[in-house]
Amino acid sequence: EDTILIVGAGQAGGQAAHALRDNGFNGRIVMVGDEAWRPYERPPLSKEALLAADDSDCFKGWLHPEQFYDDAAVEHLEDSVTRLDIQTRTAQLGSGATLHYDKCLIATGGRARSADGARCGARVVSLRTLDDAMRIRGLMARARSVAVIGGGFLGLEFAASARARGLAVTVFERGARLLARALPVPIADQLRAKHEQHGVRIVFDAGVVEVNERDADVLLTRAGDATAFDFCVVAVGQVPNDEIARVSGIDVDDGIVVDRFCRTSALEVYAAGDCARFPLGDDAIHTRLESWQNAQQQAITAARNMLGAPCAYQLTPWFWTDQYDWNLQMLGMLTDDIDRWVARDGSDRKAMRIGLRGNVIKYALAINQGGELRALRRLIEQAIPVDADALADTAIKLRQLDKL
Ligand code: FAD
Repeated sequence: EDTILIVGAGQAGGQAAHALRDNGFNGRIVMVGDEAWRPYERPPLSKEALLAADDSDCFKGWLHPEQFYDDAAVEHLEDSVTRLDIQTRTAQLGSGATLHYDKCLIATGGRARSADGARCGARVVSLRTLDDAMRIRGLMARARSVAVIGGGFLGLEFAASARARGLAVTVFERGARLLARALPVPIADQLRAKHEQHGVRIVFDAGVVEVNERDADVLLTRAGDATAFDFCVVAVGQVPNDEIARVSGIDVDDGIVVDRFCRTSALEVYAAGDCARFPLGDDAIHTRLESWQNAQQQAITAARNMLGAPCAYQLTPWFWTDQYDWNLQMLGMLTDDIDRWVARDGSDRKAMRIGLRGNVIKYALAINQGGELRALRRLIEQAIPVDADALADTAIKLRQLDKL
């Protein structure tokens, strides 16, 4: 009977286990994860888990009910995989044990990138795991002020949650504006205004030189200026956990390199989720995507390929973020070749921006009307030409567009 080893018990790992059973795999599934929890989804960590009033009931992001792992006979080991021997198909575990596999999926995700001059400690923290979120909840309960290094999605979601908990929040962003690569300028500006209206102080072009933890606070130094905060959250991106591939002789290039079938350079070793660098779209741009959707879809595709059904991975990137009363969703790729923007603004608190190349939609962003984006998916995926004037006309439903 074949053994499939899943390295990493996160979203992609847990989803792959589910998909393997779903697709009829009856052999042994061993999922090795170095966290003390069964697989969970991370999006709530910066949102609901920080906002909930009650500590004991603040996290509801489990990927599957506990019973699933027993029912589906998925063996979950709390351990780490340190190396794969590709020739003998043996995994070495941190505990010293070894494990034979027939096929292996690496789904090790990523870890928080560290910021120059800021060593993580009791009051200088990052937010990647459930344990991090619980630690931050504890800090928030006793703090009045927090510094956030990094004005990306994670830093901004944290800032919104911290404001909702009444903390004074200062965000230090190295760039001249928020989310330069992820949002069109007008929306990034609106998002900045929203944070400022809610009382967040955002400092741009802000190179933080040093963050020093003291007994009761942290001292943040920049441009000769030192300010004290009760604690500091470092949110400057993540690095892929690709060391296991590197030490096992598998191709790595800021992420584990896979082909369209989620195959690494080693026979019978696959990778999926935040740790994988894969070819995306017709241009086959090799990229990593750090998103819920990618972890989910790529894990399912990898599982199918592991079971011998050749299945090329394709997706139209979709991402969401929740900040204050905004649910912001993005579909497609914000590429440099977008040459026209269409605004489709609905009622109060709702807006949409659609980026086209010629008359083909490449990217769309919706504020508080994510459901509407779904109507654009087919147009983006199949590069169906649209009438840009009709696109801007809110009297015309998006669903009707490809019929015009
Ligand atoms: P992970 O979920 O990180 O799982 C990898 C697991 O492997 C981890 O448990 C890790 O500890 C373990 N591991 C690593 N190395 C080893 C090893 N050698 N041996 C054993 N185990 C190992 N995406 C969105 O689309 N929208 C959002 O709003 C959003 N919000 C987010 C908020 C936060 C706070 C975070 C951190 C992420 C958010 N994301 C969001 C991104 C999304 O959660 C990730 O893209 C997704 O979790 C990736 O899943 P993964 O399985 O690849 O990695």
